[in-house]
Amino acid sequence: MKQALLVINSGSSSVKFAAYDVARPDSALARIANGRIEGIGGKPRLLVWGQDGALLEDSRISVSADPVLGPEEAFEALFDWLGRHAAGRTLLAVGHRVVHGGERFARPARVTPEILAQLDGFTPLAPLHQPHNLSAIRAIASLLPELAQVACFDTEFHATQPWVAQACALPRHITEAGVKRYGFHGLSYEYIASVLPGHLGAAANGRVVVAHLGNGASLCAMQDRRSVASTMGFTALDGLMMGTRCGSLDPGVVLYLMSGLGMSVQAVEKLLYEQSGLLGVSGISGDMRTVEASDTPEARQAIELYVYRVGQQLGSLAAPLGGLDALVFTAGIGENSASLRRRVCEDAAWLGVALDEDANQAQASGPRCISTPGSRVAVWVIPTNEELMIARHTQAVLQGRGAHDWRADGM
Ligand code: ADP
Repeated sequence: MKQALLVINSGSSSVKFAAYDVARPDSALARIANGRIEGIGGKPRLLVWGQDGALLEDSRISVSADPVLGPEEAFEALFDWLGRHAAGRTLLAVGHRVVHGGERFARPARVTPEILAQLDGFTPLAPLHQPHNLSAIRAIASLLPELAQVACFDTEFHATQPWVAQACALPRHITEAGVKRYGFHGLSYEYIASVLPGHLGAAANGRVVVAHLGNGASLCAMQDRRSVASTMGFTALDGLMMGTRCGSLDPGVVLYLMSGLGMSVQAVEKLLYEQSGLLGVSGISGDMRTVEASDTPEARQAIELYVYRVGQQLGSLAAPLGGLDALVFTAGIGENSASLRRRVCEDAAWLGVALDEDANQAQASGPRCISTPGSRVAVWVIPTNEELMIARHTQAVLQGRGAHDWRADGM
């Protein structure tokens, strides 16, 4: 009997998923399909693409009693589709991206009701993501109670950071209560770290900064392919300017918003997570494509500030690394916006970055080097694959191996 794994990345208005064949006897994973349910809370649609990228499904999901589609109905529609296209496969387990694992979860975990309750405790630290990650687990547990579910954490990869990179300069009792810099986008960084040797050779183990520039955005400094520092901290708000999040901000601003402007905690949370970043500064959109396509002065300034912040934070990571051997761009903006990469690389010339503009502009989608042969810093674009990392960890947990040994990938 053929077996499959399902990976879920559940957000506020969409659920992304990918299904993998567990081929025997070597347990290699091959993606069979991927897709998303979009428009949750509005007019929901199910979109599925096959192995070869061909669109297999694009349909409205009919909503029964309630006019708004909840997570359970969304997953019912997904499992219905998967059941009709299973081709004799049985579903072994579901692996989930869970943004915050706090101090307690340094490895992927098979979800139990107790673990779910503990993960609920991190919701205030990741209000944009954690509730949706967990409601997906709950919805699937109520639909298919016997199905194994594994949580894989975005914080996990950063557990190797030295104390100084994780510490906040706050009184000890606050730090001991868990207020420290965790870092995020760990599943993306782990994937990039796993494929680095295949592309960079020996330089993979040198001083590398990976720029994950998507709707959320952060930089990770790696030495020997382990995280030594990250621009995101206690929450996924810190560091770079993002689609709708502000990034680094003087904490005095938060105090002023509340005590000076009388804003409530909820209003400040909404402002910083959902109304700031590219959206707030451009006044148009939090989507880079839309902002790049606009020629208003506000849109231009939004990109200028975005680039300035990437450069500034790149410098802040080059400092603990003691220089830079490689810079890797990944995620939606990092993989697709040649003009953003050019501007970031121009500002990073002082670090030894020399961009090959033809290579940067080339229409390509796979991993590629975009620096000149003489550049002191190798610059690469490497598409990320968080779903594959989650599938590999899920499989490892099911096999009792605890976590996937990504350092051995591609060696
Ligand atoms: P998420 O963090 O939700 O996974 P993605 O990694 O898909 O997000 O990144 C989404 C971002 O990538 C959006 O700001 C989008 O505009 C941007 N993006 C995607 N393609 C392009 C492109 N061709 N040029 C500029 N930005 C792009």
